[in-house]
Amino acid sequence: MSESVEWAFEDSKRHPIQKDYEVGRQLGEGKFSVVFFARNRKSGETVAIKRIDRENTNPDELVHEAMLMQMVEEHPGVVKIRDVYEDVSFFYLVMEFVAGGELFDKIVEFEHYSEREAAGIIKQVTNIVAYIHSKGVVHRDLKPENLLYTDSSLSQLKLCDFGLADTIEPDELLTAIVGSTTYMAPEVARGDGYDMSVDMYSIGVILYILLCGYPPFEPETGIVDLDFPKKDWSEISSSVIEIITRCLSKDSTERYTAVELLNHPWVKGQAPKTALGGTIKTMRKYNVARRTGETMRKKEEPVKGSVFGLFDSHGGDHKAETPRNNGNSNGNSNGNNEPEEIKKGNSKPSKKELKEQKKREKEEKKKGGSGGKLQEAQSSVSFSEPYKDHRKQQSNGGTVSIEEMRRTYENQLKHLQKDLEQERKKVKSLEAQLAAERDKKSKVDTKKKK
Ligand code: ATP
Repeated sequence: MSESVEWAFEDSKRHPIQKDYEVGRQLGEGKFSVVFFARNRKSGETVAIKRIDRENTNPDELVHEAMLMQMVEEHPGVVKIRDVYEDVSFFYLVMEFVAGGELFDKIVEFEHYSEREAAGIIKQVTNIVAYIHSKGVVHRDLKPENLLYTDSSLSQLKLCDFGLADTIEPDELLTAIVGSTTYMAPEVARGDGYDMSVDMYSIGVILYILLCGYPPFEPETGIVDLDFPKKDWSEISSSVIEIITRCLSKDSTERYTAVELLNHPWVKGQAPKTALGGTIKTMRKYNVARRTGETMRKKEEPVKGSVFGLFDSHGGDHKAETPRNNGNSNGNSNGNNEPEEIKKGNSKPSKKELKEQKKREKEEKKKGGSGGKLQEAQSSVSFSEPYKDHRKQQSNGGTVSIEEMRRTYENQLKHLQKDLEQERKKVKSLEAQLAAERDKKSKVDTKKKK
């Protein structure tokens, strides 16, 4: 995108997005955003359009997201942003279309999978992270749903969704509680000051899952201490266990930096080639679990003082922070509407139960009425069926559950925390200006005296 984001915002007011793009099928969905496939009417270029609910979005945050994406888009592993549009109901981020699908969905299709393949994946992810860190950007939401393969050759991964990313100075600490619980460093969940090392923690979680198929921690089951169950880890090399232990250290200074990890022999090519067939099977189950909100690790004993207490009542991987992110971290086409039955139960639902659940959801969608908002949206935007379904799900027949209210309040809190963080930054810069002015004045005074 050659023009500034501000320019794009101005221009978008005069250009409805449908004039420039033919919008097609839904690619993914968040709580307040839906991603669509689209084609540029003039150039024929295929793109992905992330349509974000205006009501729940602070435009400044969107501009921030677009600007951060621009800051790091030089890297081939970062999804490029093309443009920004808006209309009465939505903002639209136009991005390059990434056709290969989500990381964990594709791994389970690998013909051969071993530590060597896992190392190749981690090398790519760490490479991207090293780059964005070198630009002073911390992603804060690294997870398999945000890592997409460029095409069916499954050779290049791209990082998407900079909605929770931020810039950070070398000595600065951020405090906003943002991210997705399964991949979130404990210091973020506690609301303590944190730095870029939180991304390395997320890489540690991704690596752990890459090797055994299930996550190391599950806030919902109270499992917060790192362990490597013998039955799945006895064949795994001590080299990678050391990497995981370092990256998942509660002490953030113990974690590898992205550059250090890239120089680790295991990442550089020494990872064993022994097939990990069991991991693929378990990962298939995890792929279902993360979409339905089920937990993969069972709680043995209650663990007191979980840093994740904040999210106790959530099933699955919960995304915290802005309203448009809240309550649904799973950016897949199934959405993550966390069916209550599945969310509450600890046992894995059978295929039949999942089928019945989906059928019930479909019927519910059919029944659900659309309020005035939907009509208003339709008059300004004419999207395909899934879009309408999404709105119906959001409108929820006009009733607001306690869970929704809780999420709303949680979101407001996150917003305030983010504002506070920004205000602190402003105060810091004002203090620096004041100090500079004082310095100047004292120099002038000294000169005068002389
Ligand atoms: P929110 O910020 O509201 O949480 P989100 O996290 O759901 O939104 P994204 O993660 O950006 O939004 O996208 C959701 C899903 O859409 C992704 O997980 C991916 O499957 C798909 N997707 C996103 N961007 C692209 C793209 N450029 N090309 C292809 N698919 C994409």
